[in-house]
Amino acid sequence: MSTIGDLPPTPVSATSISVVLVTGGSGLVGSALKYLIDNEPIDSPYGRRKDEEWVFLSSSECDLRDIQQTREVFGKYRPREVIHLAAKVGGLFANMSSQHTFLRDNLLMNDSILQVSHEMKVRKVVSCLSTCVFPDKVEYPLTEEKIHLGPPHSSNFGYSHAKRLIDIQNHAYHDQFGDLFTSIIPTNVFGPGDNYNLESAHVIPGLIHKCYLAKKNNTPFTVFGSGEPLRQFIYSRDLAKLFIWVLREYKEIDPVILSVAEDDEVSIKDVADAIIEAMHFKGPVEYDTSKADGQFRKPASNAKLTRLMTESGAGEYEFTPFKLALKVSVDWFLDHYDTDARI
Ligand code: NAP
Ligand code: GDP
Repeated sequence: MSTIGDLPPTPVSATSISVVLVTGGSGLVGSALKYLIDNEPIDSPYGRRKDEEWVFLSSSECDLRDIQQTREVFGKYRPREVIHLAAKVGGLFANMSSQHTFLRDNLLMNDSILQVSHEMKVRKVVSCLSTCVFPDKVEYPLTEEKIHLGPPHSSNFGYSHAKRLIDIQNHAYHDQFGDLFTSIIPTNVFGPGDNYNLESAHVIPGLIHKCYLAKKNNTPFTVFGSGEPLRQFIYSRDLAKLFIWVLREYKEIDPVILSVAEDDEVSIKDVADAIIEAMHFKGPVEYDTSKADGQFRKPASNAKLTRLMTESGAGEYEFTPFKLALKVSVDWFLDHYDTDARI
């Protein structure tokens, strides 16, 4: 059985300061949380509390697939709360080419984090699922209680099953030990600090990068698939604010969907057109229908989120308009093209 017997003692200075540990702190969502913590006023609704220290982990500090390394990093920071974002993440085409890596890396990371959080009596863990955990064939809209009703879409079954299991693990830890481990389900996320790598990117960062290259090289801008699939997109800084609300206010083990409204679906063609406008691209646009469309749509309901935020007094969340958030993301990409390691 796993124990924490060989962990270093809690530092004396840690007793009055409570640590919030963010795994995946260097990623898209992690950097949006860091932006809030660095910029929102202390003790404001989306800001750091004055008795908190936020620690943002990256894979260079600890490989979370290794439970012993995870124990050591938890021993160092002694977190009171954990936001678990670290994951092997990628767009449709990266998932299709490496199902086993997406399954195994995520299973190992999730198991390390939840087991070590249990051993160290972490007060609350909020993990991150994805709307691809839902069954491929299910009545729309997607709602929280439908996760386990059938197999996920085949295009990312490795990632989806690993993510689904977090919900099962959360319930098992709660059922047997009373742990407060929960999860959120975001839709497709985009924003500053995204993964713009052409091989592994999600659609928005992938298309921003491709449009940039098409403009620079005077070549056609190629969008994969038919352009017809629909997605709900959430801006990373909106998601970060909702994450903080969940950390402070949400008390259930079951997940909550963090999404724009069900009728705010955008087609891939609309995304491409918005990027063309933001980039001032004037060249030809092609749709490569030899490439997969993936799931046609997966509309998720944010009714539970809206109800709970209203009941908590926070009120209904006002999302950043899509085109404005896209413009910030395009500008971030242009500003960081020569310097960011992930581009
Ligand atoms: P991301 O930008 O790809 O960042 C992934 C993070 O995980 C990075 O900080 C990375 O660290 C860390 N990481 C990866 N492997 C690790 C390992 N073996 N040990 C320690 N850390 C490791 O991902 P993201 O888009 O911010 O995603 C955050 C969460 O949201 C994930 O749980 C993801 O499944 C979920 N999600 C994302 C989307 C989306 O559209 N992006 C949609 C739904 C759900 P380094 O950078 O230092 O390697
Ligand atoms: P998903 O939302 O989980 O399916 O993942 P993505 O963010 O990768 O979005 C995939 C959708 O965008 C599919 O319909 C793809 O055909 C379409 N798409 C169009 N061009 C691209 C591209 O350059 N990269 C990616 N990842 N998807 C693209």
